[in-house]
Amino acid sequence: MVSELRSPGARGHCVVIGGGLAGLSAACALVDQGVQVTLLEKRPFLGGRAYSFTDAETGQEVDNGQHVYLGCCTAYTGFLQQLGVFDRTTLQRRLRIPVVDRKGKVGLFSAAPFLPAPLHLIPSFLKFPHLGLRDKVRAGLAMLSIHRMDKEKNREALEGQTFRDWLKQHGQSDRSCDVLWNLITLPILNDSVSDVSAYMGIMAFQDGLLHGRNSANIGYSRVGLTELISDAAKDYITQHGGQVLLGNAATKLIITHSNVTGVDTGLEVLQADTVVSAVPWDVLPELLSPELAADRYFAPANKLEWSPIVGIHVWYDRPVMEEDFLAALDSPLQWVFNKSRIQGLPGPGQYLCVSMSGAWEHAPMAKEALRAMVLPELEQVFPEAATATVERFIVVKQLAATFRCTPGAQAHRLPQQTPVGNLVLAGDWTQTGWPATMESAVRSGRLAATEVVRALDAALSEPASS
Ligand SMILES: Cc1cc2nc3c(=O)[nH]c(=O)nc-3n(C[C@H](O)[C@H](O)[C@H](O)COP(=O)(O)OP(=O)(O)OC[C@H]3O[C@@H](n4cnc5c(N)ncnc54)[C@H](O)[C@@H]3O)c2cc1C
Repeated sequence: MVSELRSPGARGHCVVIGGGLAGLSAACALVDQGVQVTLLEKRPFLGGRAYSFTDAETGQEVDNGQHVYLGCCTAYTGFLQQLGVFDRTTLQRRLRIPVVDRKGKVGLFSAAPFLPAPLHLIPSFLKFPHLGLRDKVRAGLAMLSIHRMDKEKNREALEGQTFRDWLKQHGQSDRSCDVLWNLITLPILNDSVSDVSAYMGIMAFQDGLLHGRNSANIGYSRVGLTELISDAAKDYITQHGGQVLLGNAATKLIITHSNVTGVDTGLEVLQADTVVSAVPWDVLPELLSPELAADRYFAPANKLEWSPIVGIHVWYDRPVMEEDFLAALDSPLQWVFNKSRIQGLPGPGQYLCVSMSGAWEHAPMAKEALRAMVLPELEQVFPEAATATVERFIVVKQLAATFRCTPGAQAHRLPQQTPVGNLVLAGDWTQTGWPATMESAVRSGRLAATEVVRALDAALSEPASS
């Protein structure tokens, strides 16, 4: 991106549609570049799929789902730094994931000091109690293949098969798929190894786990997501001369001669020199004419699909968990976060969040059925929970949480540039190379901002027509 700063509006006006991380990061990058920005958000609050709300009964901030970032998420952490809020998150200095099975056996997946990647994982992996020696050796060899692989060279073949098929071809047992490969695949790709493409599964391990000593270090917010991201981004945009319009949905793009001239909100038409659409792929067609939505450029995105996440929030009357978080094996709990500890909440009670990714089985379940399933599971992992009282139990289901990385799905992601000259796309689902994550959303926002600046500068340098 051009780094030179200009006075607000000097480069023209850009309407950004959608106030999720993609739209917010695009808007923040654009105001930095002297572009006059108007951000339209349909809902009365910002954040999109990453927001928090105040629980009326406990008065605590509850995220719509536990959001974790990794050390390799440089665009996301860069965005938090731009907003001045990075220090409200915790990022591990060294990877450390406690992994507990239903019998209470605890293993540690951690980085050894001083060893370079990927050797830094070997000592803890050798001691990992949840896999036998044979599985460990085979898993080690598969990791080595992944580490050395040029996945772009093999992209077509890898996108054409599931990760599980690839793992099976590389000698992985069912147990290894469940215990090891799904431990990383489920939370990063929000689907199991049986559903994701080998290409994206390998990407998650290459970039997320094996790339560098700190690439898999786990980070999370110590405040609610709305305070962390939305409030700070709104302040940033408005303090840099931009405008944020909440409760304002775009209903149609006004397009003439392959150029967007404005955005219709149903109440008014906002004139625009450029437009960033940062809405999900299934909203975009509503903004286009039926002919354009069916155009061979836009149409592939209609084939993307959603995958669900279920978050369960439990308040106990006393502490039952010691760690900040842990992964639970052979259990529907998957990952449990100690929100009281992470957020420094006062006692005497304790607030835990259970995060269930790829929650195909659990998303249709009623709250009482989930309660009947989850509480005994928590008692299994945290014996103190058996004698504690549950003071509050909330379920937050996000059926449209992330786009699926099934085989072939990468071909349905659209690039930032569109056939409509000054319409630019952003969103975690666009072609960033990343799965549906905050990192992908911010990358897309920044790529979109670069495109907008390029388009505005090109328009400014065109001779005026007589
Ligand atoms: C429960 C849950 C847990 C998650 N956990 C993680 C995690 O641990 N780590 C991680 O990295 N990612 C996680 N994610 C994914 C992450 O939240 C998303 O990838 C990211 O927030 C997507 O941002 P976005 O801006 O691309 O899209 P969105 O957040 O969907 O933003 C789109 C915005 O457009 C608005 N909009 C829609 N239509 C219109 C319209 N017509 N006019 C104006 N505005 C409109 C929407 O209201 C929304 O605000 C999780 C997601 C969920 C749901």
